[in-house]
Amino acid sequence: MSKLIEMKTPLVEMDGDEMTRILWKMIKDILISPYVALKTEYYDLGLKERDNTDDKITHESAEAIKRYGVGVKCATITPNADRVKEYDLKQMWKSPNGTIRSILDGTVFREPIIVNTIKPYVKSWKKPIVIARHAYGDIYKNVEYKVSEPGKAELVFTNNKGEELCRQSIHEFKGEGVLMAMHNVDKSIASFAKSCFNYALDKKIDLWFSAKDTISKIYDARFRDIFNQIYKESYENKFKEAGITYFYTLIDDVVARVVKSEGGMLWACKNYDGDVMSDLVATAFGSLAMMTSVLVSPEGYFEYEAAHGTVQKHYYMYQKGEKTSTNPMATIFAWTGALRKRGELDGIPELVNFANKLEIACIETIDGGIITKDLAELSEAANKNVVTSEEWLHLTAKHLDTLL
Ligand code: NAP
Ligand code: MG
Repeated sequence: MSKLIEMKTPLVEMDGDEMTRILWKMIKDILISPYVALKTEYYDLGLKERDNTDDKITHESAEAIKRYGVGVKCATITPNADRVKEYDLKQMWKSPNGTIRSILDGTVFREPIIVNTIKPYVKSWKKPIVIARHAYGDIYKNVEYKVSEPGKAELVFTNNKGEELCRQSIHEFKGEGVLMAMHNVDKSIASFAKSCFNYALDKKIDLWFSAKDTISKIYDARFRDIFNQIYKESYENKFKEAGITYFYTLIDDVVARVVKSEGGMLWACKNYDGDVMSDLVATAFGSLAMMTSVLVSPEGYFEYEAAHGTVQKHYYMYQKGEKTSTNPMATIFAWTGALRKRGELDGIPELVNFANKLEIACIETIDGGIITKDLAELSEAANKNVVTSEEWLHLTAKHLDTLL
């Protein structure tokens, strides 16, 4: 290899936990540092360090992304009761992803990595289908009630001056039943819309937004109208220049169109739809280990990561001294996504080229049949050779050298 590629602005590097923390270092050592004079501002979001700093480190890392614009994050443990014991924690710290998302006010986009030798379950799909899920409100912040006797339910809104602006009958119960109320706020819907428009422009792909405004004539219609207004005001011309389109349609319609499409679009979903559809699309594309994820803020800050977790079971094997065959693809693509974005923003074509070539090297290695265990059943490569993570990374580096 010739001389290292220089960077200008540092990347915000957020280290994590368990098996992905092990992979993180291997990826840097084997696939990045030999080629790039890596410049990062390092934040250790490993659970111990979060506990030591009373989770300040998580907040600081998100603030750093606001300063520099681009971050790359390793998977982290979201503690539950077992983890509090295992790591002797001061308290059950919140999900770092949740904390970062709320500081950046961002939306998460999940995108599958496509390789030739792993066929999606839907035959027509050739390009990735990216799902954006609105991550605020609706049934995730609902209020529910179990009705156990006859009576009436009403929807009431009182403003801060004490004036009752709405009182509507929901239902006159004749017997037992259930009740639920939910809400959303314009500000969050608008941030979601802007993040989606920014992402579609960044990737130069069409944006489809779906809801159910035929049934929900005020609630879902509000989502539709906010998207349309922001599009008209700030994005219509940019979309035309980029040669991409935006449209809103009914969720039923989108489901039918997506299944018949060849992919290659961003599908923006309301909170519940996104929860369900992202799992459906991820599974239909093959493997969670091949799914990347990026958080995009309405201001256009980017944070890249793998969609999967810390692969705890593999870590316990690793701790016993076993060499695991954990798939590093999604974590590598988090790095390439971040490096490419940094290269684009700082005008470093060599860095963009490196990120592209590294992705190609990874994909061609898998298509050549050199795979980790999770892909053994899925891959249709002619000669399959299941290797450890470390072997896979070295073989990919060897292939990368032929491309650079
Ligand atoms: P997980 O780490 O995604 O792993 C679930 C299973 O999926 C693994 O046991 C493994 O199956 C398979 N898998 C996932 N990624 C893989 C990879 N790269 N290569 C090979 N196989 C892979 O989910 P989890 O076990 O439910 O969660 C573990 C920890 O991760 C939890 O503490 C959770 O809080 C955290 N988590 C973090 C994030 C994040 O930071 N973004 C997201 C989700 C979960 P086999 O065991 O069958 O091989
Ligand atoms: Mg889900």
